[in-house]
Amino acid sequence: MTADMKKEVVLMRGIGVSSGIVIGKVYLIDKGGVDVPQFCHLDPESADREVKRFNDAVMESRGQLRKVKRTLIKEGRGKEHIGIIDAHLMILKDQMLINDTVKLIKKERLNAEWALKTVLKGISELFDRMDDSYFKERSSDIEHIVDRILVNLAGEEHAGIADIEEPSVVVAHDLSPADTAQMVKGKVLAFLTDIGGKTSHTAIMARSLEIPAVVGLGNITRRIEAGDTVIVDGMTGAVIINPSESVIDVYKKRKEKYEAYGSTLHHYRDLPAETTDGMRVRLLGNMEIAEEIAALSDHGAEGIGLYRSEFLYLNRKDLPTEEEHLAAYRYVTKKMSPNPVTIRTLDIGGDKFLSAMEVADEINPAMGLRAIRLCLKRPDIFKTQLRGILRASAYGKIKVMFPMISGVDELRRAKAFMEEAKEELRKEKKPFDEAIEAGIMIEVPSAAFIVDILAEEADFFSIGTNDLLQYSLAIDRVNEHVAYLYEPFHPAVLRIIKRVIDAARKKGIDVSVCGEMAGEPEHALIFVGMGFSQLSMNAFSLLRVKKLIRSISSSEAGDIAKTALKFSTAREVEHYVSTRLADFYKEEYWS
Ligand code: PEP
Ligand code: MG
Repeated sequence: MTADMKKEVVLMRGIGVSSGIVIGKVYLIDKGGVDVPQFCHLDPESADREVKRFNDAVMESRGQLRKVKRTLIKEGRGKEHIGIIDAHLMILKDQMLINDTVKLIKKERLNAEWALKTVLKGISELFDRMDDSYFKERSSDIEHIVDRILVNLAGEEHAGIADIEEPSVVVAHDLSPADTAQMVKGKVLAFLTDIGGKTSHTAIMARSLEIPAVVGLGNITRRIEAGDTVIVDGMTGAVIINPSESVIDVYKKRKEKYEAYGSTLHHYRDLPAETTDGMRVRLLGNMEIAEEIAALSDHGAEGIGLYRSEFLYLNRKDLPTEEEHLAAYRYVTKKMSPNPVTIRTLDIGGDKFLSAMEVADEINPAMGLRAIRLCLKRPDIFKTQLRGILRASAYGKIKVMFPMISGVDELRRAKAFMEEAKEELRKEKKPFDEAIEAGIMIEVPSAAFIVDILAEEADFFSIGTNDLLQYSLAIDRVNEHVAYLYEPFHPAVLRIIKRVIDAARKKGIDVSVCGEMAGEPEHALIFVGMGFSQLSMNAFSLLRVKKLIRSISSSEAGDIAKTALKFSTAREVEHYVSTRLADFYKEEYWS
């Protein structure tokens, strides 16, 4: 009997966030309890590299402690506990600590892991010695933090996504947007994570790159081993570790069916997104990185409805320059020309962090100094981006969109910076589109309620349902424990969206949806019924939604939307809409 045959079959279910079926071998990125390699007598060049790795690891360590702090606060722990974490965050910021470790690496010519382990061991022991039962009980958490720091350190050099050689299924505790941005389709067949939710940015990236993914699996990193065979169904969230041959055969057939369905959809590529009674809907693409343009064009995108520009800031230690902004936006604009490109200004914070910036240590980052709030506080960063966007507008149709606007003041201030940037460019005789439109995302409930007022000063609206749900239903979009509350059909959500479109139309202002809901046929059906004539989504969804639009009349969709608004619970709406949808729209793969 081979070792493989003895392996236990494990069936797990997580949150399917990016569809597709994959059968492949596991590439495990991190798992607690890493072995620490110990190298001494390194040559000076290697020692320098170790110093750099160490410095990066210190930054990662701080991230870990910040998370512990947030957990303590969420659990309602007293000030003294939080104070201790703060003290340790201070230690990790301390130049002495950095210098001592650097000295250790240089003097003893140790590798960073060994030196770091020595330093962190001290911190860990300090926690253990504390005369506090809470910390004693949580010492395993501290061990876990130490392990995570080492994993992060090891990951950079030894087990990073960039190092994958054979096409594999990546399994990790968590992946940051920066990690997913490094994924190459073909190399990463699928990915699976312990934590995460449907609209976390990692999930969004997976869909954009068309990489099947299941998140929120709890402890898959503990239950799986590198080299195991695994089946991933990104639609249902099913994951089967060490499947039998007969189960593999079943999934191979499902995979064929799924891929055949994808090819049949291609027939919709050049057909207009038009209802049977002639209502034309413009289908736009959401994008994060330039590589996605090809897939979006290939799926018939009629422009970019949401360019998440923050991805330009990831995976680097400095901030992008004006010239870099210009080059990136000019490239996309030229590729999409004559179709419009809506560039959303930097939306960092929440579950997206920058390595080049000192982001404040916040108790609740989703409600903290995020997106436009951060940009208004850092005009240097904001103006650099605005100048880049404006200059790129000389090469095609660009629109600017501000994220997280919660009231008129913020919009005015953002527009004032844009005016300043325009004035500077005029003086410098640098061309830009004088008629460039500036719109806002409607993703904070307060904005949704004053759309009529905002309409006086914004050129267009785009509803960001991911955050609108997060803020109106009070669910952390990256927390798998509350993922069950992520209910797009919640009557409150439907009412807010209806309110927004009605108010915007009354004012004669363009309104679209660019959150993940727009790309789901059952939700798109309701949007068409409410009268939205623009929807923006990932490449995979474009043809599915177009197929849906071409199979209904706007009056039928209108009736369905009207009825959907009458139910009391999300479950009732869902049942009603999926039953009605089944009358005219089928996705052969799921049937
Ligand atoms: C949204 O919130 O719906 C949105 C589109 O923006 P992001 O997902 O980038 O926060
Ligand atoms: Mg958002």
